[in-house]
Amino acid sequence: MAHVSDLIASDIGEYLRQHEHKSLLRFITCGSVDDGKSTLIGRLLFDSKMLFEDQLAAVESDSRKWGTQGADIDFALLVDGLAAEREQGITIDVAYRFFSTDRRKFIVADTPGHEQYTRNMVTGASTADVAVILVDARKGVLTQTRRHSYLVQVIGIRKVVLAVNKMDLMDWSQAVFDRIVDEYRAFAAKAGLADVTAIPLSALKGDNMLAHSERTPWYRGPTLMGFLETVEVDDAQQQTGAFRLPVQWVNRPHQDFRGFAGMIAGGMVKPGDRIRVLPSGRASTVARIVTASGDLPLAVAGQSVTLTLADEVDVSRGDVIAAATDPAEVADQFEAAIVWMADEPLLPGRQYLLKIGTRTVGASVTELKYKVNVNTLERLATKQLELNEICVCNIALDRPVAFDRYAVNRETGGFILIDRVSNHTVGAGMLHFALRRSANIHRQHTDVDKAARSTLKEQKPAVVWLTGLSGSGKSTIANLAEKKLLALGHHTYLLDGDNVRHGLNKDLGFTEADRVENIRRVAEVARLMADAGLIVLTAFISPFRAERDMARRLLDEGEFVEVHVDTPLDVAESRDVKGLYKKARRGELKNFTGVDSPYEAPEAPELRVDTVSSTPDEAADLLIGKLREMGLIQ
Ligand code: ADP
Repeated sequence: MAHVSDLIASDIGEYLRQHEHKSLLRFITCGSVDDGKSTLIGRLLFDSKMLFEDQLAAVESDSRKWGTQGADIDFALLVDGLAAEREQGITIDVAYRFFSTDRRKFIVADTPGHEQYTRNMVTGASTADVAVILVDARKGVLTQTRRHSYLVQVIGIRKVVLAVNKMDLMDWSQAVFDRIVDEYRAFAAKAGLADVTAIPLSALKGDNMLAHSERTPWYRGPTLMGFLETVEVDDAQQQTGAFRLPVQWVNRPHQDFRGFAGMIAGGMVKPGDRIRVLPSGRASTVARIVTASGDLPLAVAGQSVTLTLADEVDVSRGDVIAAATDPAEVADQFEAAIVWMADEPLLPGRQYLLKIGTRTVGASVTELKYKVNVNTLERLATKQLELNEICVCNIALDRPVAFDRYAVNRETGGFILIDRVSNHTVGAGMLHFALRRSANIHRQHTDVDKAARSTLKEQKPAVVWLTGLSGSGKSTIANLAEKKLLALGHHTYLLDGDNVRHGLNKDLGFTEADRVENIRRVAEVARLMADAGLIVLTAFISPFRAERDMARRLLDEGEFVEVHVDTPLDVAESRDVKGLYKKARRGELKNFTGVDSPYEAPEAPELRVDTVSSTPDEAADLLIGKLREMGLIQ
């Protein structure tokens, strides 16, 4: 843009001032491999010639390497550079590129197009105002196009550009363009995307990118750049919405100063504003807005600030400071949409961590309502969610959080799910609304409690959790140990795998999803029995660490005793008490632990018993000894 460079040369101050006041458009480009995404982004960057310096430097050094020295950057090299960067960049999930024109500043999230990179798209899209969906004119609307469009809708982007690229290869045929656009519009309308602008393009040749192309006299709409420069950005949720500050940390440099720092996620704030701290609900007034460059009279969404309050109220990391007149909601059960990003499926009942704003809590999916077929938008019943799938489900948290509906505020209504063991992000979610039961079911306070019940029994409650392969000896050892405890005068109960599956859990099979639910129920029952004051023994294969850890978390510190009945597979298999291994080896029994379903051995059990070197009776004695050592029995 010639006159911009002139202005930079003649009056840098004026240039910077104009630049400051230009609005910012964030957009995302989505397309399959080879649709021409790199070319399109390259063209936008190239024509605006406002690349960030490092990108310029990289391209220039490339041109030198290739012997095309000169002031002008070569377009093809720029595109190659972008593509190469993305290819190597399996680790760079999303590349954010910056450019600017006379009218606007832009941030484009450039994401790899392969199917498995849905995750990257979600990351890139979460802050975008517009999605540019690329279609190759030769191929038309593909599954990938539909998947991306549906995701774009779920993520809350309302404005879509359908960039029908490579029109030069289809002789600029209006019929081809119209057919693609009609098909896309029909899908978009069903998916809930009403605002679609379709543009016939050749990103490579530059047609309809910046200037209207002579080759599409039949096209009357905007050019791509023209659209991006003028499209209205709806930042309602951000600046004009209700004030929200998720507290990132509590800043206490000395006794007399307590500040609450974070990035404003909605609305604006001034000293004197009444606020509420959530989830506790305590009210106060904003005293000061502190920043590194002095106090502010006003701060808005997107700014990082430290607030001080007029009163000594309790605020901790993860709380949300919200406008008192329009506070966020607080709940611990929700309906939400989830996009799954992990190879391991999402299983209802399994415990994950959920991070919303600056707070992380325990969470599990209580009900998978349906998943969506991205091609037909059909709702399908399902027991689990696989990589790249999208579902609507109910979620329960282990404690209440402050939130807004995602449609109202993407920052305070969006969340990620994290695997508890690997710490990887496995899903992204959007809160729809709190479930009524969340507000209506309160824990009933009872006067007679666990301590009272167990004192009467003159014992400490505990859950002794035996885990191991089938035939390892869990039932045998638990049975002997219970007899010994009874002889010592203790009140006990033995929950055994097969018995529970005849009653409480007879609706469950042996798929991974059902196994998770099986153990969740057993853990809850064990917790209730411990609450009744009993010493509970459980004998379940319980192959997954996540569920055993969940059972542990249900109990108080020191009440959970994990016992690994450690028997090598070949030994357990040779015992084959119930003939199950033989059946499994013959393929008559699917999902059998150790054969075609995994067993995750405990990493730090309270006790490990080796049934090869010790007899069942010795093993039971070891267990009793462990309970004594832990102070659970005398
Ligand atoms: P699980 O409940 O783990 O499926 P079971 O207790 O039903 O296993 O079966 C274990 C089998 O192994 C029993 O037949 C038991 O007699 C035999 N066994 C041999 N040595 C031991 C030992 N040291 N501890 C427990 N069981 C043993």
